[in-house]
Amino acid sequence: MKVQLNLSPIENWIPGLNEPLVISGPCSAESEEQVMAVARELKKNPKVKVFRAGIWKPRTRPNSFEGIGEVGLQWLKRVKEEIGMLTSVEVAKASHVELALKYGVDIIWIGARTSVNPFSVQEIADALVGVDIPVLVKNPINPDLQLWIGALERINQAGITKLGAIHRGFSPLSDSEYRNEPMWSIPIELERLIPNLPIICDPSHISGNRVLIESVSQKAYDLQMKGVMIESHMDPDNALSDAKQQITPKTLGKILNRLIIREPESSDLNFELRLKELRKKIDQVDHELLEAMGARMQLAEEIALHKKEHNITILQTGRYD
Ligand code: PEP
Ligand code: MN
Repeated sequence: MKVQLNLSPIENWIPGLNEPLVISGPCSAESEEQVMAVARELKKNPKVKVFRAGIWKPRTRPNSFEGIGEVGLQWLKRVKEEIGMLTSVEVAKASHVELALKYGVDIIWIGARTSVNPFSVQEIADALVGVDIPVLVKNPINPDLQLWIGALERINQAGITKLGAIHRGFSPLSDSEYRNEPMWSIPIELERLIPNLPIICDPSHISGNRVLIESVSQKAYDLQMKGVMIESHMDPDNALSDAKQQITPKTLGKILNRLIIREPESSDLNFELRLKELRKKIDQVDHELLEAMGARMQLAEEIALHKKEHNITILQTGRYD
């Protein structure tokens, strides 16, 4: 069933947006110099509209860098005022929301380790009542579309209409080339259930390494996602968090230039005719497959009945061989 959210189009909250939205910046704000240097570089690329930097970092294990905290918000304020970029930060509880608002952050996002928890999401939603700020909700780390939708609904019910989703992949159950499995069918289903919700892809956290960022970004664009959030750092190898997946603003620029933006439809009649012809053929194959499956199920039932009438058990495992 379709999900009803009261949404404002992304073009209304990101001024001058006429191509996919690009959000970039370091995984973590580490120092004032680091934040300003990467922001200055990113500002040179007109495709990058929003600066990101985490200041409260939900790390998997303790005793690693857990973010610089409130002082980082002053640096984001400088990025906004001196460099002229929109700024964004991750929030995980009400006090984070209050501080982000106090320092004039433009966009907040809810991380994957927070969107799993309805208590935390509701606490954030309650802190947002009466506030007009765009909010992006990352998918929960587990592949649970209803939990993701529930988090979006909680924020929307607090009155936030400038709302988007971030697809950052799902914790893999077994060895994977990705840090987080993209499981593309989940954001596709989200798009089907809430067609006017902008979905932005986070290729950095899906990939977990630099090599895959371009192909994941291209796939996101090919699936009509509305933008990408890509982590960048002046010295990625020495970043205090997520070093393997961060890229320099220069590499980001090269990747963005190579990405192809495709159209959802065509006005070319020949294209449409050929597509119609191929779809007719695939519909026919689907029909034949369903008929064959139906016939198979019928036979399975006849076999079952035959065994039952002769007092024979359900399985003869030798048959499997
Ligand atoms: C991040 O954006 O740096 C982050 C912590 O991401 P996620 O919540 O997707 O793990
Ligand atoms: Mn990160």
